[in-house]
Amino acid sequence: MQDVQTDIRADIRNDIRNVAIIAHVDHGKTTLVDGMLRQTNVFRANQQVAERVLDSNDLERERGITILAKNTGIVYNGVTINIVDTPGHADFGGEVERVMNMVDGVLLLVDAVEGPMPQTRFVLRQALAKGHKAIVVVNKVDRPAARPDEVVNATFDLFIDLGATEEQADFPVIYTRALEGRAGHAPDQLAEDLRPLFDAILQHLPPPRVDRTGPTQMLVTTLEYSNYVGKIAVGRLSSGTLRTGQAIARITPDGEVVSGRVSQVYIFRDLKRLEVEEVEAGNIVAVAGLPDVGIGDTLADPADPRPLPPISVEEPTVRMT
Ligand code: GDP
Repeated sequence: MQDVQTDIRADIRNDIRNVAIIAHVDHGKTTLVDGMLRQTNVFRANQQVAERVLDSNDLERERGITILAKNTGIVYNGVTINIVDTPGHADFGGEVERVMNMVDGVLLLVDAVEGPMPQTRFVLRQALAKGHKAIVVVNKVDRPAARPDEVVNATFDLFIDLGATEEQADFPVIYTRALEGRAGHAPDQLAEDLRPLFDAILQHLPPPRVDRTGPTQMLVTTLEYSNYVGKIAVGRLSSGTLRTGQAIARITPDGEVVSGRVSQVYIFRDLKRLEVEEVEAGNIVAVAGLPDVGIGDTLADPADPRPLPPISVEEPTVRMT
């Protein structure tokens, strides 16, 4: 990874946090993100929200596991928190790696009765290997059989087992009753809302360090699809800006450079893509207008086309939205 400290052009985007959420199935990820959205006033009267936020994919529902990364953007105290869902399963290793490339920290959600489950080991390992800090969220502390202290200890052991650094193992813990939308610093002293969780994200997870004035660079991490604009490339903009109508060089993982033009630029807001004129580095963006774009491509400045380090590319995932 580039040492941004030595780059005088590096910008710290204090107005953004890019966070992946890791959880074993049924530990309450959907309920928690639902609550976070609700409390940041997402469910406005004119918005149609027929279903719960995550798990909207039929295949996922069928298999009972979350397969495809999805993005949710909320705004808390003026800070955009992009929450990226991670597949909670080692079968999707390439996808996990791609998600970890988009974020600067993780929320590890653990059920207060069940504790950390083996299926999330792989995902957490990838997050720790990337150097990410985690906030451990112990959910369902209302359950009569909840044993939050033991669960935190087991989580700590897991971190050590996975080779966490001292700093990573010194994780903050937030206790939640996601169903009631409540969080706190002790299992029996929860606030009336999720504010302690939001505050912990802002306080403990680092903002993106990027180069806002450098050449455009975005690694395509996932693909989405819309009936109106076709294929949409999603990823983190790590340098420069992306604008509607901008000419770009698309660099494939093989090093081929293809010219193209951006037709639409989006950020993630609430449950949806929100079309914007321009995005600055640090945000997670979606880009339309590139019909042949693929996972692992770098979108770059035609005047200075530099590829980003590649990521493993296996099963491309295209989501209908
Ligand atoms: P996911 O698979 O991680 O997305 O889990 P869900 O959000 O679907 O939650 C799984 C189950 O746990 C659901 O029946 C939720 O209602 C329940 N649940 C979620 N949060 C809490 C909580 O804080 N307390 C209790 N008692 N149940 C919860």
